[in-house]
Amino acid sequence: MMNTQLTLVQMIERAEKYFPKKEIVSRTSPSTIHRLTYKEVGKRTRALSNALEKLGIKHGDRVGTLAWNHHRHLEAYFAVPCMGAVLHTINMRLSDDHLIYIINHAEDQILLIDEDIVPIIEKIKDQLLSVKAFIIMTDRDTLPETVLDPVYSYEQLLAKSDPNYQFSKNINENEPAGMCYTSATTGKPKGVIYTHRGIVLHSFALGLADTKGLSESDVNMPMVPMFHVNAWGIPFASTWFGSKQVLPGPNFTPQLICEFIESEKVTTTAGVPTIWLGVLKELETKNYDMSSLRLMVCGGAAAPKGLIKKYRETFGIPFVHAYGLTETTPLLTVSNLKSDQLDLSEEEKLEIRSKQGMVVPGLEVKIINQQGEVAHDGKEMGELLVRGPWIADSHYKDDRSKESFRDGWFYTGDIATVDEDGYIKLVDRTKDLVKSGGEWISSVDLENALMAHEAVLEAAVVAVPHPKWQERPIACVVLKDSYRDTVTKDDLISYLKPQFAKWWLPDDIIFLSEIPKTSVGKFLKRQLREQLKDHLAG
Ligand code: ADP
Repeated sequence: MMNTQLTLVQMIERAEKYFPKKEIVSRTSPSTIHRLTYKEVGKRTRALSNALEKLGIKHGDRVGTLAWNHHRHLEAYFAVPCMGAVLHTINMRLSDDHLIYIINHAEDQILLIDEDIVPIIEKIKDQLLSVKAFIIMTDRDTLPETVLDPVYSYEQLLAKSDPNYQFSKNINENEPAGMCYTSATTGKPKGVIYTHRGIVLHSFALGLADTKGLSESDVNMPMVPMFHVNAWGIPFASTWFGSKQVLPGPNFTPQLICEFIESEKVTTTAGVPTIWLGVLKELETKNYDMSSLRLMVCGGAAAPKGLIKKYRETFGIPFVHAYGLTETTPLLTVSNLKSDQLDLSEEEKLEIRSKQGMVVPGLEVKIINQQGEVAHDGKEMGELLVRGPWIADSHYKDDRSKESFRDGWFYTGDIATVDEDGYIKLVDRTKDLVKSGGEWISSVDLENALMAHEAVLEAAVVAVPHPKWQERPIACVVLKDSYRDTVTKDDLISYLKPQFAKWWLPDDIIFLSEIPKTSVGKFLKRQLREQLKDHLAG
């Protein structure tokens, strides 16, 4: 058969050709909403490619973005790869040290920066070794005052560039289109390259009915940032399929999310559990029409059972758990029910939905421990390995690569079980498992149980060194305001008792006002472990 090249050029050109009137709604500040069509975005994207070329960007060069979810970022998503360069989306919430590290490591030539991020880059500009120019993505006619130099206004560059610029015809599908660094939940960020082919195939996967079924008729609003694994690939797939896109910009609140869903008739949205916890609170206090939603995806960290139950049973919102990593572009598993599971009891269905789910078509997984592949019994634990056409094969210029990529498999560092129906359940990260007296305790299972208690807002369980048992679990718990004075440690332990073997129960429960989080909203267990390292010292 024909060996045509799968590149991002065909995605944006399809949107321009077949969906010229379809809308992209973009909020760049609390008071500014832009409504553009794919035709307009296509022209602006071409002009941006041309502008970057005039600034000296060549095939293979890296262009960094430090930006929220909005139309200009979407234009960069296509303008950079479709001229043969590499889009490096940067998480601006990382520490200065990490920002300097990844910008230098990726050797970014130009940075496209949102106006509110400019001060962050000004602070570190003298340590950025490869950056030759800065482009500020501002709504204003003039550039804000800045010490960055040379510096350009995005809109002024576009106005002077060619909206009919021809995208590159010389892109091989295996060339890099994008790159991203892991958000460093567990150490120094690691770079991952996304090829054109990988992104196109991953987009196909997002369109499958048994995964997320993204389609032309959808209105997609990714709440996951466009700097976090390409907003889980949603902007790419949405553009290709011609879906309407709603991009919520900076400083969004649960209220704004609900208002957008209602007013733009959003059909699919996706984000981490922290976002959906906030939205749940909002829905509990105020009425919104959420009936347009056909899919609310939750991933990036384990979705607590209680959260899934609340959304589905109280609000009738199709809340679906999914799992992936930066290295997997990211979609790896989705927890949809099989047709023969639809008649199960609500409790049984909830149990399945709270697992991370089935591997999506196109990928292969296996779970191994020292004895070999684990049994499909939902009990035996091992590390999850994956391979497939949208899985990275290395970390970019990184010695640690050898640990994670072996024998043609990517070692995820996640400990999992798989049941007889093929549903994968993450038990923990290798680094977060509690290794107590030679046995493994899943911090995630304990957290889930705690978070299902009506008084508990958030719970993080960490392994703390123990003189006799090597490690023991300690739970850090944030109580809901109304329970602060009424619920005690003993109450929570008594509540856990019937659910777990005795030796699984936390040695202590510590009440906090908040759980420290990473820049993308995941529990920062590293910090808790550090704080508690002497807690059981004897
Ligand atoms: P980082 O490793 O810096 O957190 P990633 O964003 O790549 O960066 O996170 C991937 C990790 O997030 C996975 O290895 C897994 O531990 C966790 N994760 C992602 N989705 C889920 C999920 N649905 N349930 C539990 N953990 C998840």
